[in-house]
Amino acid sequence: MDGLWSSGSRPLRASVALLVVTVVAVVVNAINPVIPWAFLWLPGVVGAGVLALDCFRTSRAEHLPPAVRQFWRRIGTLCIPVGLGNAAQAYHTLTASDPLHAGAGAGQIAFQGVAVVLVMYALLRLPFGHQTRGDVFRVVLDAGTVMLACALFLWHFSGRYALEDGDPRMIFTSLALSVLALLAVFAVAKFLLTSQNHMDPGALRMIGVAVLIGAIGPVLRPLFSSLDPNLFPDMLDLPALYVAGALAAHRQRTAQTGPRRGVKPVRRRPFSFLPYVAVAVVDGLLLAITWRDDSTDRRIVVVSAVLLTAVVVLRQVTAFQDNGRLLLRLDHNATHDALTQLPNRVLFHERLQKALTMPDGRAVAVALIDLDDFKEVNDTLGHEVGDQLLIAVAQRLAGCLRVEDTVARLGGDEFVVVLDGADPDAADLAARRMIDSLRAPVLVDGHELPIRASIGIADGHAGDDPSVLLRRADIAMYAAKALPGTAALHYAADMAATSVGAELEDAIRDDQLFLLFQPIVTLDEKPRVLGAEVLVRWNHPLHGTLAPDAFLPLAERTGLIVPLSRWVLRASLRQLAGWPAGTLLNINISARDLREADFAATVAGLLDEYGVAASQITLEITESMPVEPGESFLVLEELRALGVRLALDDFGTGSSPLSLLHDVPLDEVKLDRSFTQADPDGRVSVAAGVVHLAEALHLHAVAEGVETHEQAERLRELGYQAAQGFLFARPMPAADFEALLPAVARA
Ligand code: C2E
Ligand code: MG
Ligand code: MG
Repeated sequence: MDGLWSSGSRPLRASVALLVVTVVAVVVNAINPVIPWAFLWLPGVVGAGVLALDCFRTSRAEHLPPAVRQFWRRIGTLCIPVGLGNAAQAYHTLTASDPLHAGAGAGQIAFQGVAVVLVMYALLRLPFGHQTRGDVFRVVLDAGTVMLACALFLWHFSGRYALEDGDPRMIFTSLALSVLALLAVFAVAKFLLTSQNHMDPGALRMIGVAVLIGAIGPVLRPLFSSLDPNLFPDMLDLPALYVAGALAAHRQRTAQTGPRRGVKPVRRRPFSFLPYVAVAVVDGLLLAITWRDDSTDRRIVVVSAVLLTAVVVLRQVTAFQDNGRLLLRLDHNATHDALTQLPNRVLFHERLQKALTMPDGRAVAVALIDLDDFKEVNDTLGHEVGDQLLIAVAQRLAGCLRVEDTVARLGGDEFVVVLDGADPDAADLAARRMIDSLRAPVLVDGHELPIRASIGIADGHAGDDPSVLLRRADIAMYAAKALPGTAALHYAADMAATSVGAELEDAIRDDQLFLLFQPIVTLDEKPRVLGAEVLVRWNHPLHGTLAPDAFLPLAERTGLIVPLSRWVLRASLRQLAGWPAGTLLNINISARDLREADFAATVAGLLDEYGVAASQITLEITESMPVEPGESFLVLEELRALGVRLALDDFGTGSSPLSLLHDVPLDEVKLDRSFTQADPDGRVSVAAGVVHLAEALHLHAVAEGVETHEQAERLRELGYQAAQGFLFARPMPAADFEALLPAVARA
């Protein structure tokens, strides 16, 4: 609440001053009425004008979203009927012959009615966050609880007196005011309990307080009139209400949240304790009433009932807290890498995006770090040692950077750092710190592992395209690989001319890629062709034909895999369209493709365009690039709904849990060639295990990389029915595969 007394909050100071003056005047007159009563009504009228000005000022704050500014304009407007109603009531009581029984005048009822309707309108028109039906139901129940509690209080403190009075006009006005107040309470409670991220939560709370003061104030009339018939609660409650309103307007204006200021507000339900407060207050009332009763039995029953509700509330609150913790953990797992606990690719993209959307065009650098000999460590010392090495590198990187920098693991042995606000010099300094931190070898399991890494830095500014920056960092990182030891290089434009990344982009656009087809055959004595797997190649203008290993890792890193996959899909379907109906193709896609929400729609569009049946294609997802839960699963379901078949490729090499087989709607598993080729007394048991698993889950099992007759024979004995490998055929051009096709058509 800093800056409360700064020049920006003059209206707030004015409302506080008005409240103080009124409190003093009321106290003085309660003791001895020396101040003219008209003076005591004045703050309630003047304050309304001050608050209106304050609200209009908030509505002009440019950093606020339009809906919020509109809301404050409406709140400002409704101050006018509140002030007028108060002026009318002042006139009504000052001219009344018997102020004790003056009640609420017609003017006040009319103006306050208008004000209450305007509050509800303003609140209901504010856009709410996305709500499920369950959410809405809960909100209505909670708001209803609060309203019920308020109704009880209104009845106990005011309604029943009006009834006892017997004056039908009093009964009617009291009823009308109560209903309006209750509706307002409901609107406010509903609003406060709805998760929405436009309003500042502090401002919201203050509006809640203001409405509560407005609703509760009038019930204090009996207390005030017992001091002096000319004393009305409105003299005090309105100035208090204005202070709460001014605080709300001030909070909203100075709030650092809201879409325009770039900080993402936390989605939570403020005031979810509101219904519990309502229960507590009603319990309090119940206790207060029964205490006057002299029946001990009744007291015991009531106290027990109250204790019971307290225990239930306590139980609820602990359950809430557990839920909250669980949600936090889920949130954490979705955005962090399980091995190193660093932010993952998702969070990295979010942070980079945020840094690049800052309005002030400030410097942002991205550093990409790739370990040079990680594969050897993994292959020679095993995955566990590899994992320890990654954890150590993660800790060292995280330890040498500023808190505002984000270190993330992109996958495998690749890390990335977003250096927010770093110009080239600052990025250089950060790179040097990283190199220093990686200098000492890592000790794992008695092995002393030296770390060698290549760091590529892309220097950018807010407003740059994140994928361009990442691609540049990648190009620089590749250039750094040519330097000895751990080294860092900044991206330079002349690197692009020689870099694989930029070339690959052109290659996809200029159709330098082409497809080979490797037959998939039955494992019978006389193998029959079942279909083929599509394998991409790059006809590089300088280096000749490149295998996928030479460019796919780069494509994965830079996101170029998405256009590449689309190119492969289109080219494959174009081929299929020219081949006999019933020809089957397996097409490799990347886990990255599944993160594109429109991937299934793209596939559907291409199938349509080339008139190919969905059942003719099987999409292969490699197990070594785990499918991320969430959206990717939805895309898989959509593909399955199209009728496309799905295969898990390189099965046995990845680290996906077995539950993946269960969760992902699969049709086929492909045993990785390392298990096909393992010697009989070694890893062949994996091949046996996989075929059993496939049978149990009703999946088609294909063995990859069959090179010898012995391997084929063994696989057949184990129960494999289909296979692929150099023994049967190498990947071949389309025309050669086409020559084999009549066999398919006959099949
Ligand atoms: P993969 O999907 O497991 O494809 C099988 C790989 O094993 C192919 O290598 C194939 O040539 C090779 N292979 C087949 N039979 C034998 C054999 O008997 N012995 C040996 N030693 N190797 C055999 P390739 O074409 O180099 O592809 C490598 C990987 O690149 C593929 O592994 C696949 O994961 C990926 N890939 C290929 N084309 C595409 C594509 O269009 N899109 C995507 N996303 N990935 C692709
Ligand atoms: Mg494959
Ligand atoms: Mg494979």
